[in-house]
Amino acid sequence: MKLPVLYIVIPCYNEQEVLPVTSKMFTDKLSELEGAGKISPLSRVMFVNDGSKDKTWDIIKDLAEKDSRCMGLSLSRNRGHQNALLSGLMEAKERCDITISIDCDGQDDINAMNEMVDEYLNGCEVVYGVRSSRKTDTFFKRTTAEGFYKLMSFMGCEVVFNHADYRLVSSRVLKEFANFREVNLFLRGLIPLVGFKSTSVYYERHERLAGESHYPLKKMLALAFDGITSLSIKPIRIISSFGVFVSLVSFIGVIWSVVQAFMGNTVAGWASTVSIVCFLSGIQLISTGVIGEYIGKIYMETKARPRYIIGERTYDTEAD
Ligand code: UDP
Ligand code: MG
Repeated sequence: MKLPVLYIVIPCYNEQEVLPVTSKMFTDKLSELEGAGKISPLSRVMFVNDGSKDKTWDIIKDLAEKDSRCMGLSLSRNRGHQNALLSGLMEAKERCDITISIDCDGQDDINAMNEMVDEYLNGCEVVYGVRSSRKTDTFFKRTTAEGFYKLMSFMGCEVVFNHADYRLVSSRVLKEFANFREVNLFLRGLIPLVGFKSTSVYYERHERLAGESHYPLKKMLALAFDGITSLSIKPIRIISSFGVFVSLVSFIGVIWSVVQAFMGNTVAGWASTVSIVCFLSGIQLISTGVIGEYIGKIYMETKARPRYIIGERTYDTEAD
């Protein structure tokens, strides 16, 4: 049997502290898998520099020069984790049989790769890396992150619980995925839509080796909102149902007040009027905001701007 060519795709943004440490972990893992006769010697580690402002790209170029198993590409500017990962996957898909995407901070246990490759050899096209526990995350990160997955599934998005962007995807799936042209990228929600046989492997998530998380609460909320609005129209449905409910209640309220007026029981009613006005204007503002969010998405999609622009590569674009 022909051994599969594996590309480990790693987005990096301002990671000069961790890269020198973790790059060795990745190349060691390649050697180990190659030694075990599971992957082809043509396998590579592909670093994507997402417009870093520090020495990340110099480090990547240096790695590529010293070790033929390392290669790098650099985006023309910072485009965010999801776009950076996409660019690496799209570059890799023509050159390999399988990709594994992983963050470069050493938080995800790279030993789970062995099991991922085994699952691929058993016939799975997509293998999700799922965190079995979040012991090392702070209480705040853990609760917000788990709340995020619960909210996503409540909103009707098909996401794998506690799976981030550590996963094995075959080039066959990626070639199909290339037809998903949306600008609103939420890879962990989109890959399941491609289909094919998939499974999950479980691992413990460690603490970042160095540097700081690029996902503070503001960015996590933005990602959650992007995820929900790019995968589901349930928020619009909820608004509509709520509108129907509020209208019904108001209708009863109107009848009640008319009856009261006829019976001569009219009261000053200032407080109730003000509260109703406040309540309804609040609801209306939220609703307009959510609808506006979707219109904003449509606006971004119709422009169909490129999701990333590659500035430099350490390798030739013709296959090796
Ligand atoms: N990252 C990126 N572009 C960005 C932000 C982050 O390529 O604009 C990369 C980053 O280098 C890391 C991965 O995405 O490899 C995940 O980021 P981070 O570890 O900060 O997120 P967390 O693990 O805290 O969710
Ligand atoms: Mg991280």
